[in-house]
Amino acid sequence: MHVNALQIVTRKIEPVMEVQTKVVDYMTGYMVGKGFKWLLPVMLSSITDPLWPDPAAEEALKPPEVEVYGEKLRLMHSMILHKQMAVAMGIDKLFILSPNIRLEGRSADDGRHAYEFTQLDFEMAHASMDDAMGLIEGLISGLFREMRDPVGEILGREVPKVKAPFKRFTLEEIKAEFGSEEKASEEMEEPFWVTDIEREFYDREDPERPGHFRNYDLYLPEGYGEVSSGGEREWEYDVIVRKMKKAGISLDAFRPYLEVARAGLLRPSAGAGIGVERLVRYMVGAKHIAEVQPFPRIPGVPAVI
Ligand code: ATP
Ligand code: ASP
Ligand code: MG
Repeated sequence: MHVNALQIVTRKIEPVMEVQTKVVDYMTGYMVGKGFKWLLPVMLSSITDPLWPDPAAEEALKPPEVEVYGEKLRLMHSMILHKQMAVAMGIDKLFILSPNIRLEGRSADDGRHAYEFTQLDFEMAHASMDDAMGLIEGLISGLFREMRDPVGEILGREVPKVKAPFKRFTLEEIKAEFGSEEKASEEMEEPFWVTDIEREFYDREDPERPGHFRNYDLYLPEGYGEVSSGGEREWEYDVIVRKMKKAGISLDAFRPYLEVARAGLLRPSAGAGIGVERLVRYMVGAKHIAEVQPFPRIPGVPAVI
């Protein structure tokens, strides 16, 4: 697929970019309209998302490193830790269009993974999971409504009508009812939530129900799979350190983050990231995420341009 520069440059991608422009315009307008501050992305840092432990991953991913003035900095897996620190700065509601690099292996090429992609990533101080889920439901249902006519005109594709609130399942319920999240995505006709997933240290464990987690993923129907992930966050130093140790994560590798946490500066918050290319892929009905990337970034296939 798309192996040389000529094949890439002669694809018919302009209509997809027209749809993407409307999607990004709607999403950013929605966030600005709700009072969120628009931060610009960080791309290199001493710390980034460990993406570990991830129940779906075979092994932990290592972010690529770049030497910057004699120090090793990492390319961003995600801006989650920077979002928490931006909240610590007193920016109570923020979002970023954040470019992320994740060098997953060839086995991740299931049509919805790219090794370079963008999240609309947001965070809100003192918010609950219901606040964040409600915000996303408003965004997605409004976007689907807004995109029905243009997508019909540009591509002749029918964007379904969806009604918020979307159905909620815990991960345990999804496994019992459908077998897996992917199977559920194939069978469901509307977006749906999966909650209570044990994963990275920064997602909050329910203090009243240890072993349960106040996080949430949004799935698209028609087999398009996960489009958003988020959670309430841990902000207490002792809890963060305990969870990092349990996950076998090096405390030293997160020193600046832990310094801020130890000083008591992290604040309770909730947020999520929405995968822009995954959302556009759904809107245009593309089989593979590479079809919505002018410059495809397919796992295991180094880009030619
Ligand atoms: P998956 O389980 O599908 O690999 P993930 O749970 O590892 O995804 P998150 O860490 O939750 O991904 O990232 C937040 C969001 O960013 C996802 O919900 C998705 O929309 C988007 N995203 C993550 N990885 C990719 C990727 N490789 N290509 C495109 N979008 C991605
Ligand atoms: N953006 C996600 C979140 O806010 C984290 C991630 O990208 O893994 O939870
Ligand atoms: Mg996820």
